Amino acid sequence: MLGIHNLHTSVKGKKILQGISLKIKASEIHAIMGPNGSGKSTLACALAGHPAYKVTAGKVSLDEQDLLVMSPDERSRAGLFLAFQYPVEIPGVKVQNFLRQVYQARFAGQKEKQFDSVMAFRKYLEKLAQELQVKPELLKRGLNEGFSGGEKKRLEILQMAVLEPKFAVLDETDSGLDIDAIKAVAAGIKHNIVKYNTGVILITHYQRILNFIQPDFVHVMVRGKIVESGGKELVKKLEQAGYQKWS
Ligand code: ADP
Ligand code: MG
Repeated sequence: MLGIHNLHTSVKGKKILQGISLKIKASEIHAIMGPNGSGKSTLACALAGHPAYKVTAGKVSLDEQDLLVMSPDERSRAGLFLAFQYPVEIPGVKVQNFLRQVYQARFAGQKEKQFDSVMAFRKYLEKLAQELQVKPELLKRGLNEGFSGGEKKRLEILQMAVLEPKFAVLDETDSGLDIDAIKAVAAGIKHNIVKYNTGVILITHYQRILNFIQPDFVHVMVRGKIVESGGKELVKKLEQAGYQKWS
């Protein structure tokens, strides 16, 4: 379980999260919705261990381990994955090499997870890419270099599949995508849940992706607090009424 208990954070001295508590079990999907600037990405960054997002109070545990004492790398090795709202470009670093390094770092020391050769890993990656509808030629390009918005987000999902995370935080992975890309991203998320029992925090502004991937819980974040939680029926209510109730 990913347990977030009374989490407070500040960014550059400004208080953002003001006591967030959530419990995410394996295979559960928790959608987080809320107005711009309410702290959703701050939650994602704080969980990933981004140094600019200071945790001032609260606890986070991942399967009984204290997440907050770990470095970002250690968090990743412990099974936490974050898909950024704005995926970074690293020109010159080929996707397939990057993903191999990411894989090796995650599964270092686990004999049964090692591939015999670079080629064997590439074969595995190509198969995974095909399953997740990522064009194979993207694997040979620089990381996100000149990728369209949809290609970047699909690659985040491929990266998630390579890392086999226990818990994944997906920050607006559906934003700016056409309907086919949304379906592909939703299918990719499901793929991870089915294969690895990944528990998911899905930060989103739109009902659309939630039509393809049913959330178990929906939370509304406003000004750094969860102000309402419910089931998927809450999404319809929000689409109609917006966040005015809390403004
Ligand atoms: P959301 O993802 O819900 O739109 P964010 O978590 O990105 O909201 O932002 C919450 C608040 O924190 C906003 O007021 C934003 O301007 C501020 N904030 C977030 N990151 C930074 C940063 N790196 N530097 C300064 N302010 C930040
Ligand atoms: Mg955000």
